[in-house]
Amino acid sequence: MTTLRTDPNSGQPVFRFAPSPTGMLHIGHAYSALLNQKLARETDGRLLLRIEDTDTTRCRPEYEQAILEDLDWLGITFDEPPLRQSDHFPTYGNAADTLREKGLLYPCFASRSQITEAVAEIEASEREWPRDPDGSPHYPGIWRGAPKAEVEERIAAGEPHAWRIDMARALEGLSESDLAFEEYPDETATRTAAQFRDPSVWGDFVIVRKDSPASFHLAGVVDESLQGITDVVRGQDLAQATALHRLLQHHLGLEPPRYRHHRLITGTDGVKLSKSRGSLGLSALREAGHAANDIKARLGFIG
Ligand code: GLU
Repeated sequence: MTTLRTDPNSGQPVFRFAPSPTGMLHIGHAYSALLNQKLARETDGRLLLRIEDTDTTRCRPEYEQAILEDLDWLGITFDEPPLRQSDHFPTYGNAADTLREKGLLYPCFASRSQITEAVAEIEASEREWPRDPDGSPHYPGIWRGAPKAEVEERIAAGEPHAWRIDMARALEGLSESDLAFEEYPDETATRTAAQFRDPSVWGDFVIVRKDSPASFHLAGVVDESLQGITDVVRGQDLAQATALHRLLQHHLGLEPPRYRHHRLITGTDGVKLSKSRGSLGLSALREAGHAANDIKARLGFIG
C-alpha cells in the first residue's frame, strides 16, 4: 500500500477531475475521470469535480450540462457539488494581488500580432528565440520594465491588458529544492519521487488574461488548495505546466499536492484527441449505441 498524504480536514486523499466546458468530453477525458475514480476508490479517498470555465470567451453552459450528463452516464459520482471557477473570480483576483505586491507580475498591453511581429524581428536578425512546451514563442519582453508612469496612465484609461509573470524575478534566489514536488513516475506507480521541473521553459507567461480575471494556471493552483486536493491526476499534456503551477504555489505559500500525469488516449490515427474531434465524443458514442461499460472495458477499467 502506498503512503498517501491526506486532507487534514477529512483524513482522506482527495482527487479531482477538472474539465473545461469548451466542448464535449471525449474518450480521453473519460480515461482521466475513470482513473481518478479508480484511485479514489482504491485509497478510500474522495473525488471532486471542478468546472474550469475561466475562459469566458470559449466556455458555454451547454457544454457544462453535457459534461455532467456524460459523467453521470459513465457512473462517475462526486463527493461534493462541483466547484465552478467563474463563481470564484474574486478569490483568483486576491491571489493575483499577492503576486503583484511581490513585484512578480507586470501588465502587458501588447496584442497578439505585436508579439508575433516582435518575435519575427528578433528571428530575422538570426537569433533563435525560445519556444514554450506548447510551441509558442516566449514573450519577447515588450512591456517588461516599462516606465511606471506610462503603465499607470494606460491602466487608468482602462486599456485592456494581461498580467505576465516576470520569470527571472520569480526565480531569483530559488533553488531546485524550493520548487520540488512529489510525482508518481507513471500512472501505475505506487511510490512518488521528488521531482523538479524548470518553470523558465514558459518565459514570461500570462497569469491573468486580458479577457478574464484569471488564467487556467492561476485558478487551478488556487483551487487545488481551496478544494483540499492531495492528488492531481491528469494527462501528460499538462506535465510541463506543473512547473509553472509549482512556482505559483511557492509564491502564494500553498502546499503542493502530489502529481500523476497519465498517458494520453489517442484516436485510431494516433493523433491526440481534442474536443473538436467529434468521432470519439462520449455523447456520440452513446448515441451510436455504445454502453458505458463498453467504454470502460475499452479503456481497461473492466475485465
Ligand atoms: N481543465 C483542463 C482541461 O480540460 C484540465 C486541467 C487539470 O486537470 O489540471 O484540459
